[in-house]
Amino acid sequence: MAHVRRRDDSETTSTSTSRGALESQPLLSATKESYVPGDSRLVATSSQALQGKNEQQDPRTMSLEEKEAEVNNRMAELEIMKKRVEEDRAALEDRKERLKKRERAFRRNSDEQSRNAENSTREVKKGVNNEFLKAVECPICSDILAAPHVLTCGHSFCFSDIHTMALNAFSLELDGFVNFHCPLCRVPILIPGYNPEVHKVAPPFYCSPCRPLQAVIELATRNMQDLGVEGWGEEGEELQRWKQREKEGQDLAEMIKLHWSNNDARDLFSSLKQSML
Ligand SMILES: [Zn+2]
Ligand SMILES: [Zn+2]
Repeated sequence: MAHVRRRDDSETTSTSTSRGALESQPLLSATKESYVPGDSRLVATSSQALQGKNEQQDPRTMSLEEKEAEVNNRMAELEIMKKRVEEDRAALEDRKERLKKRERAFRRNSDEQSRNAENSTREVKKGVNNEFLKAVECPICSDILAAPHVLTCGHSFCFSDIHTMALNAFSLELDGFVNFHCPLCRVPILIPGYNPEVHKVAPPFYCSPCRPLQAVIELATRNMQDLGVEGWGEEGEELQRWKQREKEGQDLAEMIKLHWSNNDARDLFSSLKQSML
C-alpha cells in the first residue's frame, strides 16, 4: 500500500524530488541517451529515476528549508536539461547544415559528371565521324566523295574523277577507248567501245553508283552538322561546296550514261577530246 502511494506522489507532485538527483550519474547518462527532441518520454524517464530517491524522504516529513533546497535542486536540474536541449538543437542544426552542404557538393559533382559524360560522348562522336570521313574520302582528289561510283575492281571514286580517267583513255587515233588502270589496285578497267557493226545493243556502262557509300557520306555530313563542325551548318561553306560537287557529279553521270545508252558515247568523247586540244 505504501509503495502505491509513493508512486502517486511522484506523479502528481511535480516539485517533489530528491536533493541528490543532480549528483546522480545514472540519471544524467540515461537522460542524455534516451533524449530525442520532442519526445515526452524524457519527463517520464526523469521522474521515474527521481522516484528512487523519494524512497529516502517523504515530502510531507520535510522541513521548509529542505523543501526550498529541493525546489532549488529541481530548478538547477531543469536549467541543465534546458541547456542540454539547446545543445542538442544546435547539434541538430549543425548536422542539417552539413547535410545541406553535402547535398550541394553532390549536386555540383553530378552536374560535372553529366557535363563530362556529354563531352566524352561528343569526343566519341567526333572520333566516329573522323572514321566516317576517312571512309568517304576520295583516293584521287582527297575530297569527300561526290557522286561516288564503283569500278569493276570494287574501288570507288568521285564520278568526275572516273570520267577524267575515261577521257584520258579515249584515243582519237583509234576512235575508241583503251583500258585504264584502277589507281589503287592497278587492275585494268575495260571500257567497252561501241561498234554499231558488231553490237546490237549498247554495251553496259563500265561503273555503277555506290549507294552504300552515298549513305555513309550523308550520315557523315549530318554528324558534322550535329557536332557543330565549322562550315558544316545548314548554310555552311563546306556543306554547300560538297552539295555543289555532288550535284555536278550526278548531272555529269546522268549525261554520260544517257549518251552511253543512246550509242553515241564515242561521238561525245571524241568531241570532248577534240575540244581539249
Ligand atoms: Zn574524287
Ligand atoms: Zn581497284
